[in-house]
Amino acid sequence: MQSLQQIFSLLLQPRKVVITTHQKPDGDAMGSSLGLYHFLLQFGHTITVISPTNWASFLNWMPGTKLVLDYERQTEEADRAIDAADWIFCLDFNTLNRTKRMEEKLANAAAQRILIDHHQEPQADKFAYGESDTSKSSTCEMVYDFIMASGHEDKISPAVSECLYAGVMTDTGSFRFPATSANVHRMVATLKDKGLDHGPIHEALYDNFLEARFRFLGNVLLNRMEIFYEYNTALIAIPQADLIKYNIKTGDTEGLVNYPLSIQGIKLAAIIIDRGEERKSSFRSKGGFDVNTFARKYFNGGGHFNAAGGQNKETLEEVVAKFITAMKENKDQLSNYQF
Ligand code: 5GP
Ligand code: MN
Repeated sequence: MQSLQQIFSLLLQPRKVVITTHQKPDGDAMGSSLGLYHFLLQFGHTITVISPTNWASFLNWMPGTKLVLDYERQTEEADRAIDAADWIFCLDFNTLNRTKRMEEKLANAAAQRILIDHHQEPQADKFAYGESDTSKSSTCEMVYDFIMASGHEDKISPAVSECLYAGVMTDTGSFRFPATSANVHRMVATLKDKGLDHGPIHEALYDNFLEARFRFLGNVLLNRMEIFYEYNTALIAIPQADLIKYNIKTGDTEGLVNYPLSIQGIKLAAIIIDRGEERKSSFRSKGGFDVNTFARKYFNGGGHFNAAGGQNKETLEEVVAKFITAMKENKDQLSNYQF
């Protein structure tokens, strides 16, 4: 994988470009994809943004979402764009299997794949160019760095700013997580200097839910959360029937895993959701407990040190039992937590 700097001089020649990201894109995935889209558009490239799956409706305010293809619904159109592409930017993921049904198409594409990502253990041999940096707060920060290093700061339009801000804000937990570096704050300062209005972005992302989602949250905290004080751990397990009862849509469960971390003493929070086709899990930790290793070892997943996820094919009851066994196996690390 060659460095991203190698493509700076090539940016000026119009090309056919695909930008894609991980399945069920979050704020950082969609924000980095569309931020890069609005930047590259100014060079005259022909660009198609493809999401492997659908996404949460609270992302639809982002400029450009109407043009994003959903691979599951618009497969033929997306395949044509991939066949014609010179470049495929892969943002906010680093293993092709995170694109689900797009994986094979991406793996066999004639185009050069370009990686921009901040997760651990990239499949570096799959990418012609790229940057993989786990110290970065978000892929949006990396796209911002890419734009600045390429010498085209003047092309940070309001649309670029809004998309990149959304991703850096969501991936840092609103500028709270340890990866929120001085560079992140300098980036925000630059975007503010360019006229970014950040308030409406927070509202669009966080104050934009239907009543049913709040009723669902009440039910989750009251009936679906178990606390294991001996292990400083909280587990939420959500049966599929709850998702149906409260009409829960893509994205409505995002952030739920963070609630138990606000309980005094809790070091590890887990959520396991029965999505029908699979049991999706998310893990969050405070301090020294490594959920990336935990997710890889027990839940076919991965992610970052303090935020990771996975998925299993077993029943919800079986995955819950697996979690409890895993928690007990990690008792030493979990129970000796110093605040
Ligand atoms: P979330 O819990 O929000 O789905 O994901 C938390 C972090 O872990 C994100 O950075 C996400 O990319 C990563 N992650 C989630 N699920 C998986 C997975 O199945 N495999 C890998 N490698 N990473 C995951
Ligand atoms: Mn990210």
